[in-house]
Amino acid sequence: MEVIKQKIQPMSGTSIYSAHSPISDQFGRQFNYLRIALNEHCNLRCIYCMPEEGIAFRAEDKLLTTEEIYRVIELTARMGISKIRFTGGAPLLRKDLPELIRFARNTVGVESVHLTTNGLLLGNKIEQLENAGLTGINISLDTLKPEKFKIITRRDGLNLVLDGLKKAIQSTISSIKINVVAMRDFNDDELPQFAALTRDNDITVRFIELMPVDSHQNWNTGKFFGADHMVNDLKNQVKTLESADGSKTEHNVFRIKGYLGKVAVIPAYSRNLCGECNRIRLTADGKILNCLYSQEETNLRDAMRNGASDKEIEKMFRNTMWKKFQDGWGAQNQGKDQRESMTQIGG
Ligand code: SAM
Repeated sequence: MEVIKQKIQPMSGTSIYSAHSPISDQFGRQFNYLRIALNEHCNLRCIYCMPEEGIAFRAEDKLLTTEEIYRVIELTARMGISKIRFTGGAPLLRKDLPELIRFARNTVGVESVHLTTNGLLLGNKIEQLENAGLTGINISLDTLKPEKFKIITRRDGLNLVLDGLKKAIQSTISSIKINVVAMRDFNDDELPQFAALTRDNDITVRFIELMPVDSHQNWNTGKFFGADHMVNDLKNQVKTLESADGSKTEHNVFRIKGYLGKVAVIPAYSRNLCGECNRIRLTADGKILNCLYSQEETNLRDAMRNGASDKEIEKMFRNTMWKKFQDGWGAQNQGKDQRESMTQIGG
């Protein structure tokens, strides 16, 4: 693939090495963040995500190969993608993860490479990830209590996740975040305990709204705990909260006075930050999604396997993103969900 480097006016966080113009949509938004789901299988069975027996996981040959992912990274970096996140499924189950991270880090234009993981296998792999050049890890952890961990994930393993978290904090990986799906009458009493983790650690604890994407509806929306309520509870229970800066998706960001880390609230369902979205999602089976709630998918995998040229692939990304709805409500209102579970999309 021939890459002709040309300087373009960057949007914030966009690489100045884009060989082609950035990916944009009809509302003038530009996309510089690619989330790649590496697999669908997971070693947990979180109640709000999947049934105990799992879902109809696709066979390995339906998932993108290492080479196909390399190609996507290279081509999208040419169009201004500067941040990549590997997710899943359980991305740590993929043997090529260190190579993928290294490849992404060495791709011209890519400035940061992140991982989203349930943390079960993290403790043993942290060194490999560090050596590969990983810049950030988001660890999904909904409770600090072993008995509740078993209820929500249907597995044991809180100690393993906490060990992974500790090693991640001790590593040179600079951005460490904990993603907590906050749920009524399940973990809404743990906000202060989670916030306390930010006292001595420069990490961000993010409370995220439950989303109704699980087609099996194992855990119905009765557990929904809205972002505004989370913020109120935090303010009531943690007295010395001060406003702080955060990433685009972080709605309300705080620092407890004197603490090293930050606490944030993400309105994943309320979607009042939707309009600022800068993400492109690639499912494990190689479909481009222009929104987490999108009902339409673009089959990149088959196009690549049928010999699509770089130009054609570039066009597929551009056309898909151009059609993005103004917000996730518009996308959701288009019809029936294509996906059974977040494990296929990567969150
Ligand atoms: N298995 C990895 C993990 O747990 O981090 C990566 C994939 S998982 C699908 C990504 C994120 O999606 C996790 O933080 C998980 O809690 C979140 N998630 C899954 N289903 C969700 C739902 N219905 N509502 C809100 N978050 C959800």
